[in-house]
Amino acid sequence: MSNTFQISPGVQQRMGRVQPLLIDGEWREAQGGATTDVYGPSCGSVISKAASASDADTELAVAAARRSFDSGVWTGMTPAARAKILWKVADLLEAYSAEIAELEMLDAGKFYSSAKEGEVPFAAECFRYYAGWCTKIEGTTKQISTVPGQDFHVYTQREAVGVAALIVPWNGPLVQAAWKIAPALAAGCSCILKPAAETPLSTVRLGEILIEAGVPAGVFNLLLGDGPGVGQALAAHPDVDKISFTGSTQVGKRIVNAAQGNLKKVSLELGGKSPIVIFDDANIEEAIVGAAQAIFSNAGQVCVAGSRLYVQASVYEQVVTGIADIAKQMRVGASTDPEHNMGPLISEKHLNAVSKMIDQGVAEGGVIVTGGGRLELGGGYFVEPTVFSDVNHSMSIVKDEVFGPVLVAMPFTESDDIVALANDSEYGLAASVWTQDIGKAHKTAAAIRAGLLWINCHGIPDMAVPFGGYKQSGWGRENGYEALLQYTELKSVVAKL
Ligand code: NAD
Repeated sequence: MSNTFQISPGVQQRMGRVQPLLIDGEWREAQGGATTDVYGPSCGSVISKAASASDADTELAVAAARRSFDSGVWTGMTPAARAKILWKVADLLEAYSAEIAELEMLDAGKFYSSAKEGEVPFAAECFRYYAGWCTKIEGTTKQISTVPGQDFHVYTQREAVGVAALIVPWNGPLVQAAWKIAPALAAGCSCILKPAAETPLSTVRLGEILIEAGVPAGVFNLLLGDGPGVGQALAAHPDVDKISFTGSTQVGKRIVNAAQGNLKKVSLELGGKSPIVIFDDANIEEAIVGAAQAIFSNAGQVCVAGSRLYVQASVYEQVVTGIADIAKQMRVGASTDPEHNMGPLISEKHLNAVSKMIDQGVAEGGVIVTGGGRLELGGGYFVEPTVFSDVNHSMSIVKDEVFGPVLVAMPFTESDDIVALANDSEYGLAASVWTQDIGKAHKTAAAIRAGLLWINCHGIPDMAVPFGGYKQSGWGRENGYEALLQYTELKSVVAKL
């Protein structure tokens, strides 16, 4: 591990213990005592151990969530009181931001500054945003026509959906968890969170914060462990009313199958292969920097990464050369060293998968403009920022999500149907369009089938902006009022007066 970052004694101590489960307000080991190793992606060695929940733990966590929901300890609280607790969570996240940023750096491979100035405040903002919604969950009144001559009072009301299981991936452990916990709690749900087995550390700290802020026992439970075991059990559990999943499309389909038993409500934030379309009338310098950031930030491990690049032929060479130059200048290495600006992939398994996809891209005829190799740096999991040219839509490197810093670049001309090319993907998560022609920008944005469209920028999130995908990128939306609604049921009441 790099010597450049001095790990604080508190974090050292925290990593030295087994990361515990939180069930019914109690921190505990897994029944049977099973643990899994937690690896640091920058160093490739074991940095901590985490409890690995058994089926019995999952049963206990679901039962605790159910009891707390049915007791009304949370739903019965006034909306203003719930809002105060969520606001306090935000304050505590900020108060402990240095420690949480360290955990996110060591466990998820984030840079300290980006976690401290980016992820942690954004998670805090998420809790504040949904704190505001607690007092604004409303129904409507209706007028009915089916029974003339009678008086009725007819209204709808929103109610918490019940017990919500929340499953998140490793690429943004804190923020992804916040995006689910905050609207679920705002709506009045009791929940069980399962982070990715790779990244439990910041979520355990978040669990402590939720308890410190006043979330009652059993309303928030934390299960650590693997997906096929714990995640699958939650998705199939008959006493779970709602599952909100973020992860790969492949696992998302398994969630749908598992959820069939009790037809629990399902929302899915899945993979992407998001296009960037650069027209020749764009601000080319800005587009080059924007496209490079869109694929290389967090080493490409971003669901909305701009991984398919389409550039109008007259500026194609300029744009591809510009992005390749940025890639060549990137300082890849441990996220514990602030001199670096591209960190590791999350695991050896993922590094192998990304390398295999790069090799397959070459085998299918793609040409590497820059990068393509693994980097042996202090035992961590590193790959060079990579740009492919001479690719086409029949190649796996163009079709499949790599979830790494790998860009495929393709030119287009006036005679190409650029919208059809952008839409030629099983995914539909995000896209960006770069042009100074306002009409072309909005027309192209309207025609691309994706849930998130950026014009002359890429990847800008906000709590107010719904986030989610078309096609095989998912069901439903996170963020905004839309996410809150997904943790509610709608009841219509028809009262004869
Ligand atoms: P993954 O699907 O392998 O795992 C995600 C989570 O699901 C983890 O917690 C994992 O333990 C759990 N899981 C695995 N198998 C399971 C099963 N059978 N049943 C229940 N849970 C199971 O994904 P990943 O590799 O951790 O994350 C990368 C993927 O996530 C990429 O495809 C990326 O695009 C996607 N992602 C999407 C968004 C979005 O908002 N659309 C955001 C971040 C990541």
